[in-house]
Amino acid sequence: MLVTQDLTIERKLEILSDAAKYDVACTSSGVDRKGEKGTIGSASACGICHSFAADGRCISLLKILYTNECIFDCKYCINRSSNDVVRTSFTPDEVCMLTIEFYRRNYIEGLFLSSGILKSPNYTMELMRQALEKLRVEYRFNGYIHVKAIPGADPELIEKVGYLADRMSINLELPTAESLRRLAPHKNRKNILAPIRQIQNGIRADRLLSGDQLMALPDKERQLLTPNGITATKQRALTVRREQPHFVPAGQSTQMIIGATPESDYQIVSVAEALYKNYDLKRVFYSAYIPINEDKELPALGQKPPLLREHRLYQADWLLRFYGFQSTELLSEEKPNFNVFLDPKCDWAVRHLECFPVEINKADYYTLLRVPGIGVKSAQRIMKARRYAVLDFDDIKRLGVVLKRAVYFITCQGRMMYRIRLEENFITHNLIDNDKKKTWSIENDMTYRQLSLFDDFQMDSWEVVG
Ligand code: SF4
Repeated sequence: MLVTQDLTIERKLEILSDAAKYDVACTSSGVDRKGEKGTIGSASACGICHSFAADGRCISLLKILYTNECIFDCKYCINRSSNDVVRTSFTPDEVCMLTIEFYRRNYIEGLFLSSGILKSPNYTMELMRQALEKLRVEYRFNGYIHVKAIPGADPELIEKVGYLADRMSINLELPTAESLRRLAPHKNRKNILAPIRQIQNGIRADRLLSGDQLMALPDKERQLLTPNGITATKQRALTVRREQPHFVPAGQSTQMIIGATPESDYQIVSVAEALYKNYDLKRVFYSAYIPINEDKELPALGQKPPLLREHRLYQADWLLRFYGFQSTELLSEEKPNFNVFLDPKCDWAVRHLECFPVEINKADYYTLLRVPGIGVKSAQRIMKARRYAVLDFDDIKRLGVVLKRAVYFITCQGRMMYRIRLEENFITHNLIDNDKKKTWSIENDMTYRQLSLFDDFQMDSWEVVG
């Protein structure tokens, strides 16, 4: 491993921001903190990252690794110990200085800090902790911070970091324990899930503490949430950061690499669903594997990353989180992968024509959400508008319904817009024609690009599923 000692901070930034680009779990939301007198930065509820690439990557955090040195040798990773790449590390002060300078210049709104593993998980986590503590306490930075927890680090260290960051994440890396064993033999599921559970409990305890509800819990449950006792937890929070310390207020997320191992989409969305249910995760991110390492266990070099697959998984993720779908409705052992040509909601709809057409003026909210072309916003608007008038097709178009998709599945006042055969092949054929352009641009890498700090172009946010 070639470790370079005397690099300028600019060169370090080049290396360590480039090395961080494979980490996609960096959106921010769910925290609303105003700027305070004497501090720098604020975090807003609508999210620091206002724009997203089509694959969900956010564009306005300073996204860096603390170090790209690593004692582990995960086969899929550019920073694995056996790779011959230039290695370097920041110091805590350098991380602070860069964050503050970039923030002042309006380049960024927050920090996303991940890392390779230098010497040991504890050693690395402690350096990251020092960087964040300096940033919060010495540099008075009050902006958004998302930090990766290092699996295997002491729970006490993770707890301290949790009072400094807004969001934390721990990468699940691969969908199954077996794939992890094959490609990342230094890691194991237990080491990854334990801190995820710790953070989940910490967030819950913090919320209950704010309302003094923790005391009302049965002893056993209270002990689980605050293993060191309530006083110790409160005390730790106060010593780490004096003003209103909250534990990971923007929640936690994780990331899975897609396409490096043979799991089906069904396995992947089932894992994501279980994570949302059992660990209260805010987001599960998917990262299409980019073949960068030569290894017989991995897809060949030069093979394209499975971007369309990643895109379909994000669409399905939306359906699980906001549309009331279950993974078993979307896929099964018999149909384990998403349709390449149709988004998961259209695919579900054409396979369940017995549920359609839906009468726009009568259907309940969750039934409306199942109609292709009707998203969360348009369903809400329809529910509201219906209170005052009977809606027709022009009305719902104005409310944001994408009629070219919805038209096969709805009636207004008992009538369809055109005389349409409710027949699977016919509708599928027409929907595919509508979807072709978008699919082509995803497959051909039109939207997949890691932004560098100095890119200067606009990317519109867009609704993943409509
Ligand atoms: S521990 Fe992280 S940085 Fe190190 S090789 Fe594995 S994935 Fe890469």
